[in-house]
Amino acid sequence: MDYPQSEAWERQVEAQVMKVFGPLQSARTVDEIDRRLANMQGDLEQALDEAFDRIYEQAIIFVLLFMMQEDPGYQQFVDEFRRDPRLASDLGTQQAKRIAAEVTDSTRRRVVEFRGRPVRPGSPVPDGAAPSTPSPEFDEFRNNLFGRGRAEAIGITETTEAISQAETQAAAIVTNSTSPHALHGTWITADDEKVCPICWPLHEQPQEVYSLTFRNGPPAHPRCRCRIRWAVRSGRG
Ligand SMILES: [Zn+2]
Repeated sequence: MDYPQSEAWERQVEAQVMKVFGPLQSARTVDEIDRRLANMQGDLEQALDEAFDRIYEQAIIFVLLFMMQEDPGYQQFVDEFRRDPRLASDLGTQQAKRIAAEVTDSTRRRVVEFRGRPVRPGSPVPDGAAPSTPSPEFDEFRNNLFGRGRAEAIGITETTEAISQAETQAAAIVTNSTSPHALHGTWITADDEKVCPICWPLHEQPQEVYSLTFRNGPPAHPRCRCRIRWAVRSGRG
């Protein structure tokens, strides 16, 4: 099973992050960035919450519909989930909160680091000027911090995370029920030239193996594009 929509989800997350990052690209000084960071965590949480609720909802449904191909009796799980999709909104909200906290923390760390950075020789910033003085270094720093590249990385990594979590939870619903089937996961890399040394040894490893290192599956690292392939096993366990 594959997600034709996962790239659309990545772009949607990226766009939501850019709603918060975009206005910060106009910050003229480090102090201004610092002041405006006070609102960043709440703004990100708000921008991402609904997007992740929807990703979880669709990914959980996707697994349950996949099970229905095996046994139409699984309609019952789909109906139950549609009646009460709280699992998806709880997981979506949790992930939005975690991302907002992590992105805000790492932004704050990078601001502290930038303030302490020595001015590069040959830079037009006058000797003794505060690092908050506008300079090519500051522009580069601000553009990296709030640019599309960082938003895109968040989109890819966190969509991978949401899909793995959603599928693992949906698989657990089926596996923990009285159903005669269980869902079993296998780690699948994007299997192209961009696959990294962290992920290629995980390619086609079964759940018993990958879960020792990555309990709920991908991502294994930022921008990880791996996924889990699920297969139905008859019999318990
Ligand atoms: Zn990977």
